[in-house]
Amino acid sequence: MKREHVIKPILDHPYPTIQYGKGVYLYDDQGKAYIDGCSGAVTAGIGHGVQEIVDAMMEQASKVSFVYRSQFTSEPAEQLAKKLSDLAPGNDYWTFFVNSGSEATETAMKMAIQYWQERGRPGKNKVISRRMSYHGITMGALSMSGHVLRRRRFIPLLADLPVVAPPYCYRCPLGKTSPSCQMACADDLNTAIKRIGAEHIAAFIAEPIIGAAGGAIVPPAGYYKKIKEICEQHDILFIADEVMTGIARTGAMFGMEHYGVEPDLIALGKGMSAGYTPMAATMAKDHVMEPILQGSKSIMSGHTYSANPQSAAISLAVLAYIEKHQLVEAAEIKGTILLNRLRQMADGIAIIGDVRGQGLLIALEFVADRTEKRMFAANIGVTSRMIEKAFHKGLLVYPAGGAVDGEGDAIIVAPPLVITEEEIDQLVRILAESIREVMAEVI
Ligand code: PLP
Repeated sequence: MKREHVIKPILDHPYPTIQYGKGVYLYDDQGKAYIDGCSGAVTAGIGHGVQEIVDAMMEQASKVSFVYRSQFTSEPAEQLAKKLSDLAPGNDYWTFFVNSGSEATETAMKMAIQYWQERGRPGKNKVISRRMSYHGITMGALSMSGHVLRRRRFIPLLADLPVVAPPYCYRCPLGKTSPSCQMACADDLNTAIKRIGAEHIAAFIAEPIIGAAGGAIVPPAGYYKKIKEICEQHDILFIADEVMTGIARTGAMFGMEHYGVEPDLIALGKGMSAGYTPMAATMAKDHVMEPILQGSKSIMSGHTYSANPQSAAISLAVLAYIEKHQLVEAAEIKGTILLNRLRQMADGIAIIGDVRGQGLLIALEFVADRTEKRMFAANIGVTSRMIEKAFHKGLLVYPAGGAVDGEGDAIIVAPPLVITEEEIDQLVRILAESIREVMAEVI
């Protein structure tokens, strides 16, 4: 056994050491450049090495970096919560700061349960999610996630929570076709609520656009309106997991804006600090906070680093950068360009079954047969071959395979929102080369 000290994702895999990043590029200690085609884990939304963020970091560090949330608040945390509320659909949110997307969804779950307790209905304590979903890796968040590969090892310890059909029109889990299905996947929520009993359900959680569990799966128009109506009919809170879609990524500040729905709770992470610091948040509307304010007056959760002033100052600077450089608009414009280029590219490559997405959250799904949409056998490892091949050629893309009961192959392409058209050309060229080479290996 060769002793190392950092436990890396795959223990016998070599990981290059990154020296620095600038814009959409990362450079390793051997001088190799990587075009960051997925913003890391769909995180580095404003690109790498932005001086304004470094300046904000230094300024806050020279004042104070840490205060404990049980003892003090801070100007950056107060300003950031206000800013998020101003940006969010409906502008009436409170924010509970956490440090990762998993903590954000798990806190949303806890707040939903507490909300019903404070309203005298403690039996409403289950959260429904969707079969293809990823809400995080901690036990509570993983319990709400339908990501088979990430759950498998821990199933005995996970809460047994209900799941419903995802709005995955390319390969409908209910065997139907849109629009004649009339969104039977949304009705599946209704059916599940009736089966379980609304008196047992606190909330329904969904990613506006499904990310890691299938790849940029955009729901049909009207899906979320219908979902919200069903939730309201049955007195169930709606949690939008905007960890991947939030903060400009999809060409709107919040993914849910595309669907005209105001979630009761929102989980944020990734793009809100663009990777410059660990920072995430759970946002709750006034009406969710009201019974808690009238009741126990305290959310039973929190972490040592919650509302960290240093992290809040960095997130504020990231939001200011996004506004100053109009990156919401950029995500939409560049996203359309990238989507079109990828679709043109896909025409000539038989194993690309679907190219889909919104803004700069785009995915390619790979199939062994385009007409039948037949998936590759899981043991061929098409998704990991794609990631490896592109990595070798200096392009980073993100895995979204294994989402259909452990099968299926997809990758996410989600570069920083500052990407230029020339960089898009380079990205598409390397990706096409990588896919063609993998295709030659697996067909
Ligand atoms: N929710 C969604 C939609 C995500 O995509 C992720 C991470 O990929 C998470 C939650 C978990 O976030 P984190 O990895 O920061 O814990």
